[in-house]
Amino acid sequence: METKYVYFFGGGTADGKAELKDILGGKGANLAEMSRMGILVPPGFTITSDVCNLYFHNNKSYLKELEHQIGESLAKIEKLMGAKFGDEGNPLLLSVRSGSRVSMPGMMDTILNVGLNEDTVCGLAKHTNNERFAYDSYRRFIQMYGKIVMGMQGEIFAKLLEGKKGERGLTLDTELSTDDLKDLIERMKSKIKEVTGKECPSDPYVQLWGAISAVFQSWNTPRAIAYREANSIPQEWGTAVNIQTMVFGNMGTESGTGVVFSRNPSTGERRLFGEFMLNAQGEDIVAGIRTPQPISALAELMPRCYQELSDISQRLERHFKDLQDIEFTIQDGKLWILQTRAGKRTAQAGVKIAIDMAREKLISRKEALRYIAPEDIEKLLHPTLDPTAEKEVVAKGLPASPGVASGKIIFDPEELAQLARKGGDDFILVRSKTSADDFPGIRAAAGVLTTTGGITSHAAVVTRGMGKTCIVGASGISISDVREEFIVGNRIFRKGDYITLDGTEGEVLLGKLPVITPKPSRDFEELLVWTDLAKRLKVMANADTPQDAKLARDFGAEGVGLCRTEHMFFQPDRIDHFRRVIIAEESGAKEKALEELLLIQRTDFGQIFAQMEGLPVTIRLLDPPLHEFLPPPHAEDELKALSQRLGIPFGKLQEKVTELHESNPMLGHRGCRLGITSPEIYQIQVRAIMEAACELSKNGVRVFPEIMLPLIAHVGELKFLRELVVNTCAKVKMEKEAEGLAYKVGIMIELPRAALIADELAKFADFFSFGTNDLTQMALGISRDDAGTFMPSYLKRAILRLDPFISLDEKGVGELIKIAVQRGRKTKPDLKIGVCGEHGGDPKSIEFFHKVGLDYVSCSPYRVPVARLTAARIALELTT
Ligand code: PEP
Ligand code: MG
Repeated sequence: METKYVYFFGGGTADGKAELKDILGGKGANLAEMSRMGILVPPGFTITSDVCNLYFHNNKSYLKELEHQIGESLAKIEKLMGAKFGDEGNPLLLSVRSGSRVSMPGMMDTILNVGLNEDTVCGLAKHTNNERFAYDSYRRFIQMYGKIVMGMQGEIFAKLLEGKKGERGLTLDTELSTDDLKDLIERMKSKIKEVTGKECPSDPYVQLWGAISAVFQSWNTPRAIAYREANSIPQEWGTAVNIQTMVFGNMGTESGTGVVFSRNPSTGERRLFGEFMLNAQGEDIVAGIRTPQPISALAELMPRCYQELSDISQRLERHFKDLQDIEFTIQDGKLWILQTRAGKRTAQAGVKIAIDMAREKLISRKEALRYIAPEDIEKLLHPTLDPTAEKEVVAKGLPASPGVASGKIIFDPEELAQLARKGGDDFILVRSKTSADDFPGIRAAAGVLTTTGGITSHAAVVTRGMGKTCIVGASGISISDVREEFIVGNRIFRKGDYITLDGTEGEVLLGKLPVITPKPSRDFEELLVWTDLAKRLKVMANADTPQDAKLARDFGAEGVGLCRTEHMFFQPDRIDHFRRVIIAEESGAKEKALEELLLIQRTDFGQIFAQMEGLPVTIRLLDPPLHEFLPPPHAEDELKALSQRLGIPFGKLQEKVTELHESNPMLGHRGCRLGITSPEIYQIQVRAIMEAACELSKNGVRVFPEIMLPLIAHVGELKFLRELVVNTCAKVKMEKEAEGLAYKVGIMIELPRAALIADELAKFADFFSFGTNDLTQMALGISRDDAGTFMPSYLKRAILRLDPFISLDEKGVGELIKIAVQRGRKTKPDLKIGVCGEHGGDPKSIEFFHKVGLDYVSCSPYRVPVARLTAARIALELTT
């Protein structure tokens, strides 16, 4: 049997259907479906996307059977329309359009009015009783065909058109007379001949084949290829071609054309929304010469058509179970539906529509989750740029923390904090990188911009935790702190100048731009609750303070997956206490300093446990190298001030600082290595955790402490530290008479070696948590703090498709994770395993974590809703 390449639709029947979208494309499949539903669509046929692939495969030629199948379908159209293709009396005219599996708006080509030539144009004029209309259609055909099929430059035609209008002293195309158009057609034809050496074909069949080939070829234009790359659309999908009877909306006042949505795509309101133009064709709307009218006006002008359109829109929405974006044309009072597809919508409307459709029982609650993309959730949580704003991108960096923030440039974090205290203005902190000391400035800033650093640098992690807009690694910017300015290209930005950061796109924009602040909606909260109906992965939060923990719980976190205890010391009123611990040598002073630390930590842990009552709280013992808490050895002024504050001789302080200095701290004295060389710090932290937990537990609060050891590489480290933790816990439990309190001791898997010996480590660990920030850094040998300097070049050259610190490197780091999961569970089949690196909030990475069988992901509080929705969608087998 002959392979079917051509699918007819029209007259209430169709060879195709919605399920054949993969070969018919979205447009073709929906046209077939509408025809089956008895909705009036201009009859036509779809050539499958398989033909597109064959066409390229066979050196741009067609199979014989295609001609025959097209002939058959064309005959059916002719019969239905009572007109013949190429007939001089009553010619059938065709449109030829692309149609891929997923919409690629404006990327491929369309040719209208195929079938017009010097003979059929007379037939059209006679049949429609409108000579000007016929010649204008012919003029449009020559222009389109010349450009798209014959490769003429569009400007050549535009010049001829302008020239003609100039000669006649006219301003609008519509003022050209029939004779003007006839003359223009001749000029255009001869120009085509002159430039291409070929005639614009008159034979309708030659035109048709030319148009089909041009549409196939438009699949491979540079812009279409770039769009596919950007949207991960496979090249081998190819495009289908839809060939359809032309209907005209410009045949008088009983004709018109327009676009409607079955609900309002901006607000989600359930009411027909859209616009139309009387006596016009689609391109007139696009050209913007006349202003379209709101669709409600059609109810008065053509009530029967309006009612019909409204009914069809409802039917289509019920049938496709989604918001529909419908194109229509009214020709002489008869309504034709040209296309229907799922309508694009704002994030806000998306949530409302999904919730409303579930309430109307059009879809189930689980299905509602299909309608919201995880990226939309981010838009609902963070400010976005007003889409009407004219933006000028002055520099690009890495999108470290989403949202949009406008404010005055300030380089000094302390000054920023002071200015912000006065109120009245917003500020953007601009720095090469940030450190713990900058915290007050970061907190007071509307947004943070750094010129170095990657997606897991200090600035990125801290701002993400706060839900504050941030761009890092904007390496095109060079800062002069002395002159308080930065230079990008040949532009200078001074302190006090306004800039806007788009942290979602990683764009630094010129000036103060309007920002839309999202309003939290009940619908949104309800939708998030529905995620629990579907998801398997638990979603925990990275929360370092009681405030973070509260926020996380409000966003629906199912516990704390990572509490970075060092962040508790970084607060300005606390850091000196910790510095005393580091520097104090004599045991009396050290004990006193540790005692103070115990008090601070115990209070914090108590409050976090209380916020997370009934849920696990994973607290990681100290991780960063100690020198990070002290000024660098060369910062004499800072060291002097510190020596005075702490009452420690300057010389001694400088000696200590020099001793702690490391040339490669990321691979140095950090993580569990600190616990081994300074066990008293870990001991005091464990004591603080357990004292707080015992206290609360005695008061009836349900607490589930989990103590986590960072940067484990050897089983010996784990054995040593586990013993330290267990002994300290036992002591505290005895002192507090809370022997029954359960707790867990687990480890972070952050080093490739740890992943490889996971079977051994699992013997001494109650849980694993992948620290994918470090695991990525260590597996790829890319310093997370320095990645920003070269990562943009890697991405630009497509050496890497995605920044591995944003989206997990599944091939490499992912393989280590798989190995660790498999080996860990070989030892302990029910070993609890999660992830707490930044990837825990990235939709694509979450999909991977789900697939490899992790139990939970943990991410910053603002990403918890995104992770919940993603986890649910993945469980429903919807791709991210
Ligand atoms: C990690 O390495 O992934 C992690 C969570 O720890 P940190 O970012 O604090 O090093
Ligand atoms: Mg780490």
